[in-house]
Amino acid sequence: MIIVIKKDTTQEMIDHVVERIKTAGLAVHISKGKERTIIGAIGDESVLVSMALEAMPGVESVMPIMKPYKLVSREFRKESSVIDLGGGVRIGDTEIQVIAGPCSVENRQSLVDCAIQVKAAGAKILRGGAFKPRTSPYDFQGLGTDGLKLLAEAKKETGLPIISELMDPRDTELMCEYVDIIQIGARNMQNFRLLMEVGKAGKPVLLKRGLSATLKEFLMSAEYIASQGNSQIILCERGIRTFETATRNTLDLSAVPVLKEETHLPIFIDPSHSAGRWNLVAPLAKAAIAVGADGLMIEVHIDPANALCDGAQSLKPSKFTALMGELRKVAAAVGRTL
Ligand code: PEP
Ligand code: MN
Repeated sequence: MIIVIKKDTTQEMIDHVVERIKTAGLAVHISKGKERTIIGAIGDESVLVSMALEAMPGVESVMPIMKPYKLVSREFRKESSVIDLGGGVRIGDTEIQVIAGPCSVENRQSLVDCAIQVKAAGAKILRGGAFKPRTSPYDFQGLGTDGLKLLAEAKKETGLPIISELMDPRDTELMCEYVDIIQIGARNMQNFRLLMEVGKAGKPVLLKRGLSATLKEFLMSAEYIASQGNSQIILCERGIRTFETATRNTLDLSAVPVLKEETHLPIFIDPSHSAGRWNLVAPLAKAAIAVGADGLMIEVHIDPANALCDGAQSLKPSKFTALMGELRKVAAAVGRTL
């Protein structure tokens, strides 16, 4: 940590700051310039974070050197992490993985039909919300446990591993019985108790970026999960809130290369919730692969016009199949398979 001392600070004040750092167990390196003194604190700077050195007389600013996220950082682990779901489905490897399925589970027939078609198109993981985080309490909230049971049936029919969103820490055990990946939605990215629960649960987690979260905050949320002993985390960029209203959210494509530098975790893009409109899904999905994403999450519905949730951004299975063909070419161009 670097501590910059204000101009004209007395030696006594500087000594006081140095003493504080030393009593915290860190070594001190002092550099006296003509105008300013700079103190370098060497050692585990995390102990200094809670000491509020900024508040001490004479201190102008405090700059941490280490990243606040540790376990999920590239500094901690150089090689990219791969999450093995079994059955040859590896996330974060050369093969790009596509998660597809309806926004929410509605009934057995439409879910199984959809699962069969997305599998035939090359999706390796089935999505479907059972507990839905709806903005309005009067909108369809999902089928709950019955939805999870239907997902299990679709898995039995197709062999596809499944992912569904967990909203309440009290449902963690129930969710773990049914799903292969737990989804934490954008609205819960900073629900720290929930993050710690899924960290303890030990299942792979797909963590969506919060509606207005910075990448640093996103990584800190992943760190919460990792801090509980679970590093099987997929980060998912799903668009952020900006001044632009032409799309539901603004897809932050630069998140992918930035996160690739910062973390060893696999990174997915959800073009559906970014766009909010089905006709924008294909171009955004292609761009996602071109920019280095490890996978995609795409909403597909048998009959989007009558979907109970997010129909406007859902692809029909035929459109999804066509898109997968195009995505294979983009994947090949960037040295990946799909
Ligand atoms: C979803 O995947 O259905 C969903 C609600 O996504 P988000 O949390 O990104 O809004
Ligand atoms: Mn949705």
